[in-house]
Amino acid sequence: MKIRVGFGYDVHRLVEGRDLWLGGIKLEHTMGLLGHSDADVLIHALCDALLGAANMRDIGYHFPDTDPKYKDVDSKLLLADTMKLLRDAGYEFGNADITVAAERPKLKPHIDAMKACLAEVMQVDVEDISIKATTTEKLGFTGRQEGMAAYATVLITKG
Ligand code: MG
Repeated sequence: MKIRVGFGYDVHRLVEGRDLWLGGIKLEHTMGLLGHSDADVLIHALCDALLGAANMRDIGYHFPDTDPKYKDVDSKLLLADTMKLLRDAGYEFGNADITVAAERPKLKPHIDAMKACLAEVMQVDVEDISIKATTTEKLGFTGRQEGMAAYATVLITKG
């Protein structure tokens, strides 16, 4: 059996007047993430980790932000499409470990809902998805609440 690891990283700016979508769910907050899509930074990092594990380029290659088709698109659709790309290539999902760096809002109360949402979209076991949240101790762009960053590691298998 072939075992492959992948890593993904993404950043989006926080602005007023946008909904905050994270981990596939909408959170109540005074600001939202800015992007061509719904800017779900967690899902974007996860997609890049999945694509990286399969050596299939990156999210911008498959879902370009210059394409009007992806304007304000629900990132859950991109995640579902990414999983289809991997399954079509014969890969099976192993597990994912994701970290989100954000000062506010507090993510702890929402982690279980995000995990359940991602598991359903990906059609995988919720036990195989880990989501962790951290602040950056008020340091840097995440600490100043100018944006959020997400990091994802995944394992996939074939054969
Ligand atoms: Mg992104």
